[in-house]
Amino acid sequence: MAVEKVADGVVVSIAYVLKVDGQEVERADSSDPIEYLHGAANIVPGLESALNGRKVGDKLSVNVPPDQGYGPYDKEEVERVDRRDIPGAETLKKGMVVEMEDDEGYIYEATVVDISKDAITLDFNPPLAGKTLNFDVEVVALREADEEEMAHGHVHGLGMDEDEDDWDEEDEDWDEDEEADERLN
Ligand code: ZN
Repeated sequence: MAVEKVADGVVVSIAYVLKVDGQEVERADSSDPIEYLHGAANIVPGLESALNGRKVGDKLSVNVPPDQGYGPYDKEEVERVDRRDIPGAETLKKGMVVEMEDDEGYIYEATVVDISKDAITLDFNPPLAGKTLNFDVEVVALREADEEEMAHGHVHGLGMDEDEDDWDEEDEDWDEDEEADERLN
């Protein structure tokens, strides 16, 4: 059955331009749209709720405040880290984004905001935290998500196998569960 409108469990293709403070920061053209699973928090909440109930061809402009976007800017998320605790510290430059792993193995992205003789100052806020996001969006296509996509909570693109989209911990956990199930059967 053809999907009429955007709802939970629908894979939505959108073209969009994201502007922040009048500057374009991201774009996906209608010839190369992005797909996301609606209702699975794949995109910022303010954009997801604005797209709810929309149909193919709908175009909308959405202003998303920080609390519906990447959250408020939190000064507590800026940390000075001893240079010796950062592998490759000598190669870092201000403005670079680095990946840091905590004791539990979680990966966090951080922006280098200051470099001194002994320490590197890292900002763990998402780059667009505290910003109002201006989206111009067009709904390009809609389809039903398959069972595996629903279980994973994200879209599996054409020709993309599961190994390639194992990009987060949750996904790996799911795949491990599936492998365990297969062994039992
Ligand atoms: Zn997956």
